[in-house]
Amino acid sequence: MSDDADVIIVGAGLTGLVAAAELTAAGKKTIIVEQEPEQSLGGQAFWSLGGIFLVDSPEQRRMRIRDSYELALEDWLGTAAFDRTEDLWPRRWAEAYLGFAAGEKRSWLMQRGLKFFPVVGWAERGGGNAVGHGNSVPRFHITWGTGPGVLEPFVQRVREAEKRGLIRFKFRHRVNELTRTGSVVNGVRGDLLAASDAERGRKSSREITGDFELKAQAVIVASGGIGANHQLVRENWPKRMGAPPKRMITGVPDHVDGRMLAIVEAAGGRLINRDRMWHYVEGVRNWAPIWTDHAIRILPGPSSLWLDARGKRLPVPLYPGFDTLATLSHIKPLAANSPLYAVADDIVNAAKGPDPLEAVRTVLGDYTNRFHASGTLAHEEDDDEVLLHASPNLTIYHITLSPGLQYPPHNHLMDALIGIYKGSETNFIYPVAGSELDVPERQDIAAPAVVHMASNTVHAVANTGGARSGALHVYLGDLTRTHRQLWSPDSNHAEPFDNDRYLAGARPIQQSGHE
Ligand SMILES: Cc1cc2nc3c(=O)[nH]c(=O)nc-3n(C[C@H](O)[C@H](O)[C@H](O)COP(=O)(O)OP(=O)(O)OC[C@H]3O[C@@H](n4cnc5c(N)ncnc54)[C@H](O)[C@@H]3O)c2cc1C
Repeated sequence: MSDDADVIIVGAGLTGLVAAAELTAAGKKTIIVEQEPEQSLGGQAFWSLGGIFLVDSPEQRRMRIRDSYELALEDWLGTAAFDRTEDLWPRRWAEAYLGFAAGEKRSWLMQRGLKFFPVVGWAERGGGNAVGHGNSVPRFHITWGTGPGVLEPFVQRVREAEKRGLIRFKFRHRVNELTRTGSVVNGVRGDLLAASDAERGRKSSREITGDFELKAQAVIVASGGIGANHQLVRENWPKRMGAPPKRMITGVPDHVDGRMLAIVEAAGGRLINRDRMWHYVEGVRNWAPIWTDHAIRILPGPSSLWLDARGKRLPVPLYPGFDTLATLSHIKPLAANSPLYAVADDIVNAAKGPDPLEAVRTVLGDYTNRFHASGTLAHEEDDDEVLLHASPNLTIYHITLSPGLQYPPHNHLMDALIGIYKGSETNFIYPVAGSELDVPERQDIAAPAVVHMASNTVHAVANTGGARSGALHVYLGDLTRTHRQLWSPDSNHAEPFDNDRYLAGARPIQQSGHE
């Protein structure tokens, strides 16, 4: 089969259009394959505010904002917190992209017809300084004409190339497979979808009327994200942020379905960092929705008052526009009358004193006895772990364990206090020889009890009782961001801790039968 074009682009959003404009400028013949109808050309960008990230621009300098590549890099690294082997390319990409944003990006965009509003906005400020998360200076340059203004020059270029025969659009073509010759991806296969007169941004039908196959020398996938696919969002939800919210609304149209991720993977693509996702918390339901569960983000005024479910003001810096993921983590999946709010508040306060270990032990002992006396679980949900608090000095979880399961050995690398208030748990404390574990010492602990584990402890926990156990776990450090170890039950070798492998490593254990 001879090639239909030099390049096939999957997706006619902004990414696909920019790629197509560049390819045709280099004289390449391109086919753009798009599942939506023609009237939705441009994808998400049409709906966007058109805020563009620039570093050390004339607009910033006019406002006396001092910015530089070095400062932007420090901000980026503080926000990304790269800590995985697969972060090599994201880090290199960040360095290259910042070079572009501090260099030719502005003039490149202006040559294509974009113009910028002279007031620079400040998105994601973080803690307000150059260490840790966030932009330490304003960098958000709004395009005249917002999202449609960003799209316009690229749509125009691509439409002109279409007239010259360099570009062909294939609307209502949905890709299901990337095809290969040997190890080279050089084609796409998929469904022809029925013609649709759905207005821009509205959900279009998925009625199939036929199939198609196209070949080219190269394929670019520009298919957008996963935001409209809540199932995928939940599957990939970052463990460090606790359980995903039960109810979510959606900031992107239905076509942002994430289907191409699995399709790329099936063709040999290596996907990384699926759990590194971004969500706004300040969304409200659109009273006149365009897409399913349509959410609108309200750009907050500088002095907006934000309250949690109990009417308490959110702590610094969890204001709108400062640190959206930290705000999301702070808004816990708890009912407004949950007793766990008070637990978190009291333990956080206790840990502020000169001897946090003893002060936390006292408060934890008090709650352990009180919850034990009530005879019920303080929080009963499908999820075993609820993250109540995470900060550099302190992490608090409420954890329930199902009966008859033992979890793999692991360490915490910080002092830990566990207040078991319901049922019984068995703790296996392992001596470590090199990186291998020796025969453990078994401790059977019935509620109510507070157990202290020193920072070098390696232990495995099991519920040997007859019912679900309940415990408050307090760690004197940020457990969610600490590089600690897990010992696989199969190999007995230390490996980097991973919550999925930890939960998957649970094995049945003999129960003693009583609670
Ligand atoms: C309300 C809103 C405000 C925003 N504000 C900003 C902002 O101010 N600044 C900023 O930088 N970003 C902003 N964004 C984000 C930005 O608009 C998007 O990241 C960007 O437009 C994504 O472009 P894309 O081309 O990668 O993806 P998309 O626009 O999602 O386009 C992907 C296209 O691929 C098609 N496709 C997917 N799978 C298939 C398949 N299997 N077969 C065929 N076609 C397929 C889809 O139908 C879609 O048309 C905003 C987004 C929204 C929704």
